[in-house]
Amino acid sequence: MFHRQFLRGFLDLIYGKQDTCTLCGHQLATGQAVCSVCRQEITGLRQEYNTCRNCGRLLEEGDVCNQCLQQLFYFQQACVVGPYRDLLRDYVHQFKYQGRRDMAKGFAVLLAEVLRRQSWLDRIQLLVPVPLYWKKQAARNYNQSRLLARHLADILDIPLGTALLVKVSDTPSQTALTREQRMVNVRNTFRAAVPAAVQDRNILLVDDIITTGSTVSECARALLEAGARGVWVAAIASGVTRAASEARFDTAAVRAE
Ligand SMILES: [Zn+2]
Ligand SMILES: [Zn+2]
Repeated sequence: MFHRQFLRGFLDLIYGKQDTCTLCGHQLATGQAVCSVCRQEITGLRQEYNTCRNCGRLLEEGDVCNQCLQQLFYFQQACVVGPYRDLLRDYVHQFKYQGRRDMAKGFAVLLAEVLRRQSWLDRIQLLVPVPLYWKKQAARNYNQSRLLARHLADILDIPLGTALLVKVSDTPSQTALTREQRMVNVRNTFRAAVPAAVQDRNILLVDDIITTGSTVSECARALLEAGARGVWVAAIASGVTRAASEARFDTAAVRAE
């Protein structure tokens, strides 16, 4: 903590205070949405892991996770800003459960930077956020994935379709479920509301956290069944699988949607 405070003080001294980091609230020198301290810390977390070349979740070793070896997700590829732990976990939690809607912009800036490094980004024609069941959205007053997608659409200049995918039934909490149970739990819970709008489109699904990948895979399936050409995924964070050879997802760390 002292280190962070010191670094901030130092940066203030150099640049003078002008703007505010949307993640930590600290004042910033320029018009950027995320301060260099948050950025460095999140980048540092990310660098501790490999990335599954298929689902984009973070791995402790290897380049493809056990789930991707065993099954075929309906999406093409996914990418995330970093692992769901430490600072990033704390921030995502604030964004999702503590009403910090303003954090959407900072997350979108970081996610856009990751997306720009993906070879498939220029194929994307439409952004679609993962929907919440209406009761959950009414209780929370906002859908964090939708806020994130809105900022991403602005930054990347890609059309946004906020009502194209709906969650047609509520699902029990996924927290205590195994991967197999999660797959069954979310099956047929998403539906493309306007099939004509997704037909022949390459779509980027936007979510906050990728856990086992079962939710985004089911969303992708609904879009593909409605005629989408391909579906990719972008999320702020993913859980970490312990090993490529014996994937054990750290479900305890992730509160299910
Ligand atoms: Zn910050
Ligand atoms: Zn994978």
